[in-house]
Amino acid sequence: MKIIIGSDHCGIELKQGVVAELSKEFQIKDVGTNSLAGCDYPDYALAVAESVALGESDAGVLICKTGIGMSMTANRFQNVRAALCATVEDAVLTRQHNAANVLCISSQNVSFDYALEMIRAFMATPVDMDERHVRRRWKLERAGRLSDVSGLMKDDPEVYAAIKAQTVQEDTEINLIASENTSSRACREAAGSVLMNKYAEGYPGKRWYSGCLPVDAAEELACKRACELFGADHANVQPHCGSAANMAVYFATIKPGDTILSMSLDQGGHLSHGSPVNFSGKYYNIVPYTVNKDTEMLDYDELEKQALEVKPAILLTGASAYPRKIDFKRVREICDKVGCIMMVDMAHIAGLIAGGAHESPVPYADFVTTTTHKTLGGPRGGMVLCKEKWAKALDSAVFPGMQGGPLENIIAAKAVVFREWMMPEKKGYAQQVVKNCAVLCKTVQDRGYRIVSGGTDNHLFLVDVKSSKGITGKEAAAALDAAGIVVNKNTIPYDTESPFKTSGIRIGTASVTTRGMKEPEMLKIGTWIADVLDDITNTVVQERVKEEAAKLVAGFPVP
Ligand SMILES: *Cc1c(COP(=O)(O)O)cnc(C)c1O
Repeated sequence: MKIIIGSDHCGIELKQGVVAELSKEFQIKDVGTNSLAGCDYPDYALAVAESVALGESDAGVLICKTGIGMSMTANRFQNVRAALCATVEDAVLTRQHNAANVLCISSQNVSFDYALEMIRAFMATPVDMDERHVRRRWKLERAGRLSDVSGLMKDDPEVYAAIKAQTVQEDTEINLIASENTSSRACREAAGSVLMNKYAEGYPGKRWYSGCLPVDAAEELACKRACELFGADHANVQPHCGSAANMAVYFATIKPGDTILSMSLDQGGHLSHGSPVNFSGKYYNIVPYTVNKDTEMLDYDELEKQALEVKPAILLTGASAYPRKIDFKRVREICDKVGCIMMVDMAHIAGLIAGGAHESPVPYADFVTTTTHKTLGGPRGGMVLCKEKWAKALDSAVFPGMQGGPLENIIAAKAVVFREWMMPEKKGYAQQVVKNCAVLCKTVQDRGYRIVSGGTDNHLFLVDVKSSKGITGKEAAAALDAAGIVVNKNTIPYDTESPFKTSGIRIGTASVTTRGMKEPEMLKIGTWIADVLDDITNTVVQERVKEEAAKLVAGFPVP
């Protein structure tokens, strides 16, 4: 076992004795100090804490006069749990219960022989994996997930209050918003990092400002990982959001007034696919396609017929509220027949594609746009992938075409998330999202609710609450909200209600799956949804569900 050890000038004598004695039993790395001259204890605590946090050492030992300053410094590092111990029993218990990985010793209060005994006991004691200790350690590590922002508490209490309220909401409610997910702490650390201080107009190696080496490294990682993860020729990770990613493709390829064939907003498309209130609808000639009225699914023969008639410059597929798989190979055939650009907006399903739970459009499409914050679970942002021949046009369209300096902190967070997707821990996540969605959908359907298109192949489904219960999507979402279940109202194809009321609600399983929920939890949640929607005026049911929901989510901590 590897021990990393450090001390200040007061602890040097004890430290040297320990190193000499224990080198026979352990592999010991001594980070100093090596002289009796006065030194600063935090420097040595930092060296030990870093090594333990990185997992380079199995444990650390820190010695100073009291051991207190050492433990305080080491405990500032995430994943470091430094314990100041005075007895062998302390060392054993803190190992078992707190999974302490740094032992701090007072050179003033502990004798040489006793220090050896404490270190040996500490190293020999396994961590107790009992459920209650695991739970408590999770609470210890995250301080109610507020340790991320604890500095703000004092520096800006009003903003802190907003962040705390969001934290509590995430902790206590069931989030079924299909366009949301829950980011990792690593992602949030990168997003909140000093990389936000840098202006970096241009691209890595070709910036308009000096001092860009650190952000170049982050952006190169993001591009390289995106290409690897999705098998793309080229990635531009600078778009600030999904709408900007779509804008970049239009700017790179077509002129104002040119024709885009896309799914309209009320059928499941996105604002930036040509809605009249959006720039896309104002500057381009938008021809909408629809789903088949009976099946509520895409009809590729119809789409082909329409495309050959319309002759669009771009055929755009991908949607915000389409619960079925999209046949990208078939779409490519249509684009080839028409001779138009194939553009796929995978904003919603990017995570399913990264995890292999949905066919990838990347081999087929000229351009693939996405957000990085939906099923992908990263920071709020956008990205465009394209074939090599479009790389230059795309990059110029983003900068200087439509954006100034990129958000390098967010780009770094994108890089973090792309790496997470390549880790073994992530294997199976996308499949579980889809499985969970199927079970949740079926549970609600079995209670007599009409599901748009009769089911789902991906992470979301639409419930037609109007035809099922005579209520609007707005009313349904409000009732569920009161019961601690968060969904959104959504139009359904050929909706007769206004977009403010809607006939449907949209339900997605990315966020609950990130929290670790599986099929049994989906059965419960589906039952609660039906219980609430069966009688949206029944506040007793809402209260009951809210209580049960809070109990359920308590067992599935947010990352
Ligand atoms: C969410 C979404 C976007 C973009 O969203 P932003 O809010 O601009 O990041 C683009 N396309 C589709 C299909 C989406 O669902």
